Amino acid sequence: QNIEQYLVYGNPIKQSRSPDIHKIFADENNIAIDYQKQLVALGDFKTAVKIFIAQGGKGANVTAPFKEDALKLADTLTERASLAGAVNTLTFKEGKIYGDNTDGEGLVQDLLHNNVTLKQSRILILGAGGAVRGVLLPLLAQDPKSITIANRTVSKAEALCENFNDERLTACGFDELADQTFDVIINATSASLSGDLPPIPTSVITNDIACYDMVYGKDDTPFIKWAKAQGARKTIDGLGMLVGQAAVSFSVWHKIMPDIHSVIEQLRKAIQQG
Ligand code: NDP
Repeated sequence: QNIEQYLVYGNPIKQSRSPDIHKIFADENNIAIDYQKQLVALGDFKTAVKIFIAQGGKGANVTAPFKEDALKLADTLTERASLAGAVNTLTFKEGKIYGDNTDGEGLVQDLLHNNVTLKQSRILILGAGGAVRGVLLPLLAQDPKSITIANRTVSKAEALCENFNDERLTACGFDELADQTFDVIINATSASLSGDLPPIPTSVITNDIACYDMVYGKDDTPFIKWAKAQGARKTIDGLGMLVGQAAVSFSVWHKIMPDIHSVIEQLRKAIQQG
């Protein structure tokens, strides 16, 4: 049997859980795949991809810092990849390179999996970096009432709104959030990575709000801890987004949407055990 080959590229790459996630999805769906991780030196991305294609590679995931290189390398882009300005999923078919971005759809899948209502909801996004750019189109496709993008550097949030040109989007600074209420808050700043909390007023937390942090770890992130302390009903960390983006990549390649629930549980246990 000819086993299809896949890779994830990054630098660093040791930490990547993508091979484990894809192998579980493949096993659960009786598909035989070979999925490895590859460390690529800065500047060598294009060469690495060409070599893999020549060896018969079928597709690849791309993580930092190569998502923009992958965007440039693709012959054809999906709308979500083009608007995200980044590619995390490459498909090699009939001599062509297809680029997609599944990060935003991964977030949406995880929110829906956690029974968070997005339709007609008022969403607050904290941060305006690459991750936010990647999630806006899939979030807008869920028909929210409004999406407010609050960022430390307000001009970046404004630039995103201009870029997407959708009347449901507004930009503001954190200090403008007082007296505003929302149904869902998504922390897409990298503040949690350095143990910090974005300076948002406690008044945004109402009992039935859902609070999501794109960062995840062994312990609750500072944002999740803070949201719980303010009485937030539902708090979710970003592990499911990681599994969700892998699931959407898997469906792009194999035309089967795998179940994310059991993989999230397995990864959660592995993370708890250190
Ligand atoms: P970027 O570096 O592009 O953007 C970082 C954002 O965080 C900016 O908006 C920045 O504000 C803001 N920020 C950083 N520190 C602080 C702080 N102390 N207080 C307030 N705001 C702060 O990062 P990305 O957009 O690529 O990623 C954001 C986070 O999402 C990362 O932590 C990343 O790990 C996570 N992520 C998780 C994924 C998952 O699968 N779970 C997928 C993708 C991302 P400013 O513009 O003012 O500098």
